[in-house]
Amino acid sequence: MSRVAVIGAGAAGCFCVVGLKRRLPDAEVIVLEAGRKPLAKVAITGGGRCNFTNTFEGIDRLEEAYPRGARLMKRALMRFSQEDARRWFAAEGVPSVVMDGGCVFPQSQDAMDVVRTLERAMRLAGVQVRCGSRVSGIEDLGGRFRISFAGFDEPLETDRVVVTTGGSPSPSGISFLTPLDLETVPPVPSLFTFNIGDEGLKSLMGTVVENALAGLAGTGFRARGALLVTDWGVSGPAILKLSSYAARHLAENKYNGTLNVSWLGTANESECLDVVRELAAAEPRKLVASCGPKALPGRLWRHIAGRAGLREELRWAELGSRGAARLASTLACDAYPVTGRCRFKDEFVTCGGVSLSGLNLNTLESKKHPGLHFAGEVLDVDAITGGFNLQAAWSMAETVTQAISFCDGGDGGASSSC
Ligand SMILES: Cc1cc2nc3c(=O)[nH]c(=O)nc-3n(C[C@H](O)[C@H](O)[C@H](O)COP(=O)(O)OP(=O)(O)OC[C@H]3O[C@@H](n4cnc5c(N)ncnc54)[C@H](O)[C@@H]3O)c2cc1C
Repeated sequence: MSRVAVIGAGAAGCFCVVGLKRRLPDAEVIVLEAGRKPLAKVAITGGGRCNFTNTFEGIDRLEEAYPRGARLMKRALMRFSQEDARRWFAAEGVPSVVMDGGCVFPQSQDAMDVVRTLERAMRLAGVQVRCGSRVSGIEDLGGRFRISFAGFDEPLETDRVVVTTGGSPSPSGISFLTPLDLETVPPVPSLFTFNIGDEGLKSLMGTVVENALAGLAGTGFRARGALLVTDWGVSGPAILKLSSYAARHLAENKYNGTLNVSWLGTANESECLDVVRELAAAEPRKLVASCGPKALPGRLWRHIAGRAGLREELRWAELGSRGAARLASTLACDAYPVTGRCRFKDEFVTCGGVSLSGLNLNTLESKKHPGLHFAGEVLDVDAITGGFNLQAAWSMAETVTQAISFCDGGDGGASSSC
């Protein structure tokens, strides 16, 4: 009887062991978890509602959703797509609903439904779940592996190992892989909000602009979406996406830089000038500060007019071409100092981890250590918010399941090194 040990009972690990044990009922399938219980993180995903996948509507290129790992995700989604994820959970008794932005949640809006479903599936399939087992090392014995633990547990020998230990913002999270001499990409955080060094902007705390374009000056990083002004700086989908796209750049620059905001969603000054001219023509007698574009809240508009150097008592008829140009330029490319980052409480992920270059992307098996597979956030794969990270966990876990079951006698679709 073959033995497969999966390290980490998170989203990818639990999904993987269920698939493995169902396909290979005679195999001994063990999941080793450092914590006291499995799926602790899944229980708090989506603010306790678990945004477990996304419809991918509006995503034209996978790179938009997966700044790291899009090429791998293209293959993994072919093995297990977002529709497959919804069907799988529905078949297990968790129907889903689609919310804004294509975000998919359990109909109950309760992450515990996802947790309990995976726990039940593991129990019914006959998976061994060993909690409180922190893996401290893996040794390649040539065709077999020896797993050692941080506590007093005896080492475990196994035919195959699947590493699903999740993301870790510090390299120590994957130090147990050091003896295997794998290529890794230094981990840095992704999905955070920005601290802004501008009291004027922060005084507008609570202001939301539905369609802004945020970018980092001097780079090509840009993201579109809603932007929220907070008491520490800026947040909202546009900023979280930007933090994901520019995760490594920002880490290298110690979270300092210049945030450019195009308040009307276009960085094109001549388009903004057209808007300014229309406003001036429509309400020439009104004060500029009191009558701005409909898309912008009044408080924010007064702030923008002030930043363009316009007097509060100035009327539209008195704006002149210089004033109009200054206003258009501020609307198209306002600039604020970024002074740091702040953790986003609803979701944060790791950019970096085990490099994809050392893996067969069809099987997620190590080229150097046949029999050793990886899935989930431990790899250099991560996504923007919206359910894409959990979808990555399901799709990669299924890729590994198919590869191992194909090799070890069950059914499966991936061609492996076996
Ligand atoms: C607060 C929060 C909310 C989120 N909400 C969402 C959301 O709504 N939608 C979405 O798509 N994504 C969300 N994410 C991201 C998502 O949760 C992760 O991308 C996903 O859980 C990754 O799955 P994984 O299996 O790779 O890792 P994890 O789910 O993190 O599981 C890894 C497991 O491995 C265990 N482990 C680690 N090291 C060892 C070791 N040495 N030995 C044994 N066990 C070990 C850990 O204890 C953990 O249980 C959220 C993240 C956070 C932090």
